Amino acid sequence: MSDMNVAMVERYRNNFLKEVEHNVEEGDWVKMCMQCGVCSGSCPLGPYWDHPPQELFMMIRAGKREEVLTSTSMWMCTSCYNCIVRCPRELPITHIMHGLAHYAKRLGLAPKEQPTFKFSQHFWNNLVKKGRVNELKLGLSLYFMNGLVEGIKTSLNMAGIGLGMLKTKRMSPMEMIGGHSVKDTKGFHAMLKKAEEIEAARVEKYGKGS
Ligand code: SF4
Ligand code: SF4
Repeated sequence: MSDMNVAMVERYRNNFLKEVEHNVEEGDWVKMCMQCGVCSGSCPLGPYWDHPPQELFMMIRAGKREEVLTSTSMWMCTSCYNCIVRCPRELPITHIMHGLAHYAKRLGLAPKEQPTFKFSQHFWNNLVKKGRVNELKLGLSLYFMNGLVEGIKTSLNMAGIGLGMLKTKRMSPMEMIGGHSVKDTKGFHAMLKKAEEIEAARVEKYGKGS
């Protein structure tokens, strides 16, 4: 690319696009989107979202930082990969959607009342101690996430299913006394610590909102 072309492309990379490129997983792909709309048309949930993927990418390029980072849309991506397999430019759309959600959370801008945001937090809290999900505890924490009364009602409604799962060994009684953990919990925690260090180094290099 000639110097003149590089300068022209640079003019169209606003600050928010640069921020996404530096901080969001696979964010440097966003500039490759040609706005054909195939991803939004292929997304089974896109029509119900405020901003399907094509629109989010257009908003990033238009510098609409707050609208993008507070959007609920990327929190509802189910990782079905329909968009990825159809994108003519081969953008890793699913990863960008999750990357945007993660970045919004890091900045404290994620919509906390969004049910999938709450689910993600409960799932992570459940997983992080032992490296394996305790399904019983996860289920109970989800039943009670909207208050005690709703939690009791849902637990009672689900009691039959829970007992059935125990009976058919789809859920282990071990889960009631703490549950299983990965073989090497120390190694698992060391891996998480390393990932946090890499993340912190990246934030220090590029800044939270550079
Ligand atoms: S399918 Fe790919 S190129 Fe087309 S709008 Fe979606 S991300 Fe952009
Ligand atoms: S992976 Fe996410 S964004 Fe892509 S089509 Fe599926 S739900 Fe939609």
